[in-house]
Amino acid sequence: MSLKEKSDWSVNARDTLFPFGKMDNIARFAKIIENSPEGITLLDKNLQIIYRNSSAEGITGWSTAELILYDIESVVHEDDRGWFGVVLTELRALPGISKNCCFRSKRFDGNYIWLECVFTNHLNDPDIAAIVCNFRDVSVRKKAELASRYALEERNIILESIEDAFFAVDKHWTVTYWNNMAEKVLELPRREILNKKLWEVFSAAVGSKSYLSYTAALESDHAVRFEEYYAPLGKWFDVNAYPSEGGLSVFFKDITERKLSEIKLKELHESLQQRAKELATTNAELEQFAYIASHDLQEPLRMVTSFLTQLEKKYSDVIDEKGQKYIYFAVDGAKRMRQIILDLLEYSRVGRTDDDLEEVDLNKIVSEIHTLYQRQIKELKAVISYGGLPQISTHKTPVRQVIQNLISNSLKYRSPEKAPRIKIKAVQKASFLEVSVSDNGIGIAPEYFEKIFIIFQRLESGDQYPGTGMGLAISKKIIENLGGKIWVESTKGKGSTFFFTLLNHQQ
Ligand code: ADP
Repeated sequence: MSLKEKSDWSVNARDTLFPFGKMDNIARFAKIIENSPEGITLLDKNLQIIYRNSSAEGITGWSTAELILYDIESVVHEDDRGWFGVVLTELRALPGISKNCCFRSKRFDGNYIWLECVFTNHLNDPDIAAIVCNFRDVSVRKKAELASRYALEERNIILESIEDAFFAVDKHWTVTYWNNMAEKVLELPRREILNKKLWEVFSAAVGSKSYLSYTAALESDHAVRFEEYYAPLGKWFDVNAYPSEGGLSVFFKDITERKLSEIKLKELHESLQQRAKELATTNAELEQFAYIASHDLQEPLRMVTSFLTQLEKKYSDVIDEKGQKYIYFAVDGAKRMRQIILDLLEYSRVGRTDDDLEEVDLNKIVSEIHTLYQRQIKELKAVISYGGLPQISTHKTPVRQVIQNLISNSLKYRSPEKAPRIKIKAVQKASFLEVSVSDNGIGIAPEYFEKIFIIFQRLESGDQYPGTGMGLAISKKIIENLGGKIWVESTKGKGSTFFFTLLNHQQ
């Protein structure tokens, strides 16, 4: 078809479609424009309104008569007015061009609506001679867009401000988000990973724990949490990955410091355990040695004592006073040595006896000890107060020995000025019983509170206060063997209180 034929065909086709006269067509199109659901406004070259269809009135609420009084830009929201003016100026200058824009316009009721407009400059077309503006109200769509944009911005603000590193991937592993912290801890700027495939960038991690966990999370639609060491960076991460509609959101933090101290702590714990084991072995060997030595030393010592006694008895006529004195010292030394050996033996025996648990009435124990020391108590005018002490399920013999040691010390380390006042009390605590033995004796200076529980540690001279320095060491060993603690509180010159705890096995 030639160009001429084409044009003739088009004129004929139009005549067939619009088989009315020219005036009929004008009326027809005017009606179509008038009733179009789109707002249509015509502006002259000075941007003055020369026509508005009824939809334009309906959409904006302004009647044409009202709006004609205004400059069109005055109903544009002040935030949009600047660029809107520029669009109109450009448009006015270039006949034949169209410009699309979306702006907020003030309705007659004062509310703003979003208008999507197409301005076309037909000023040079003599049939139209106007700038035509087609527009519609897109407020609903625009508000929804803005709401989702704000939500997105808000989400981004949150994701940038959290302390966790974060990234998101879609179902095909394309990275869609990479926050600041992720940049920092993975030492990778977002421009190098955004919109790229995660496993292409981290190809070395394919098959790793994170690879398998993320894949499992996506496939099972269940969140996963794990810790992983990432060798290329020498870092430990604590990772939480949550599958979603769009893909996977991964929150992670660098826990290298914590992990290293955990590892160190574990190593330390292991080496301590090893050390404790070694110490336990050494201790057991020492105890064994002390037991054998003290046991075996008794026999030769008995010989020394008995021969010295024989010497004293049979040769008293030939030995002068000095010699007798020497023999006395030697016998006394041997006696003390015997006591030391006996105490040492006792010390090394602590914990060896398989004494059964039994119901022990502490009142009865104290009463028996009272009877044992009756003579001394009478002489010293000592008062031992107790009573209302509880029953406890424990090992009787060792407990009795501890209480006896403490009471005998209270009598021994009495004040020279006062008659001894000794109180025995027991306080029931959560899972144990706390027993105390207090006196008004010579007291102990604080710097010795620990020392006195070590074997052979004595604060006083043997002349005034005889002893081997083993009583408290034995007591400590007994109490610790029973799972308790022993300690002292004291004021020099005023008196001391010894405390020890006993597990109540019934609880
Ligand atoms: P020993 O009485 O044979 O010396 P202990 O082990 O029983 O041995 O006591 C160690 C030291 O603790 C004593 O030498 C004494 O100095 C001090 N001590 C113990 N009990 C008391 C007490 N009730 N008051 C003052 N000092 C005490």
